[in-house]
Amino acid sequence: MKNIVYYLDGPGGAFKAVEEPMPEPGPGEIRIRMRRTSVCQSDVVIYKVGLPRIKQWPAIILHEVCATVDAVGEGVTKYAPGDLIGIGCDIPCGDLDCIYCGRQGTGDWTSCPNTIATGHEFPGFARTHAILPDWFVELGPIAKFDDGVNPDHACQLEPLACCLEGMTRVNNCIENRIVVLIGAGSQSTYALQCSLAMGARKVILVNRGEDRLQRVLRDFGSERVVGIRWDDNVVSNILEACRPFNEPHFVMMNAPAEAGYRLSTELLGYGTVLDAHAGVKGAGGKPQIQHEVDLNNDIHYKLQCYQATHGSSMHGIGLAHRMINEGMLPLIDKMTNDTERFHHSELLPAIQRAADKDSLKVIINWS
Ligand SMILES: [Zn+2]
Ligand SMILES: [Zn+2]
Repeated sequence: MKNIVYYLDGPGGAFKAVEEPMPEPGPGEIRIRMRRTSVCQSDVVIYKVGLPRIKQWPAIILHEVCATVDAVGEGVTKYAPGDLIGIGCDIPCGDLDCIYCGRQGTGDWTSCPNTIATGHEFPGFARTHAILPDWFVELGPIAKFDDGVNPDHACQLEPLACCLEGMTRVNNCIENRIVVLIGAGSQSTYALQCSLAMGARKVILVNRGEDRLQRVLRDFGSERVVGIRWDDNVVSNILEACRPFNEPHFVMMNAPAEAGYRLSTELLGYGTVLDAHAGVKGAGGKPQIQHEVDLNNDIHYKLQCYQATHGSSMHGIGLAHRMINEGMLPLIDKMTNDTERFHHSELLPAIQRAADKDSLKVIINWS
């Protein structure tokens, strides 16, 4: 049997399927057989304009993945053939002595100066089989699912982990609290489902486009969910929806636009935690967004908290694994409708579909 590897020749280019010899796992390594990959908005960006982190073209992209362990090398005891696993995107740097990524490390590998990620510096999973090296197997973000877990859910481990990193970096801001989600893309839709699962009092979903807002409200709404159009009255409408409170407790900024940051800071009141979740990149790179904070009044007396996460560490992977493994997100199948399912021979149409304004989560089937 051959390994089919899809190489993207360059930004805006074509995927070329190459048949390569099936690799054999060495000591400490495992070979995985891809089951599903889901498409991240970063894959859409990489496809359209590339990314400085990808230095070598042709490149193997796609990082949201679940796979079945296919063969294990000598000495591997954690995994066995047949195991269904999900894999994080941010991975250890490979230095076993690293204070972030190594054996005694914190697992916060997004803080490592040598941080790497799958589908970026490390080849992605647009291939039927892959070898995971020994350090990846020992220390990497690999979560094993119970028998019977749906691969359509398992492949969403990584985006869900990123979302949960942001929602849990500060304690006590979701359960019994008012949550505002700016933007109605996939990260907000995960956050909405997680907020309900974590016992939020109310979730206020804010979006500019009516189509996606209506899709998310229709499929994920409940009596605890309110949708608000982002128009000229958006700030007063959000604050009105927070009643009897004067402000939200948690604001997650999921719109990759400077305007989203501007809006989010206008919502901060007593005790508000702002998660600056979506990065903002324009044609000219990252803009510098100035915002003045009064450390005495805003931070000390009002207990406001500015925080951000990007990517996921072992913490988020563990939380996301539990959510999926224990079926805590009963509506997750609605992230992907029939127009968002593709076979691996249709990588380009899959990425183009993910770029559509109404799309939530495109899943590619490798089985
Ligand atoms: Zn992703
Ligand atoms: Zn490191």
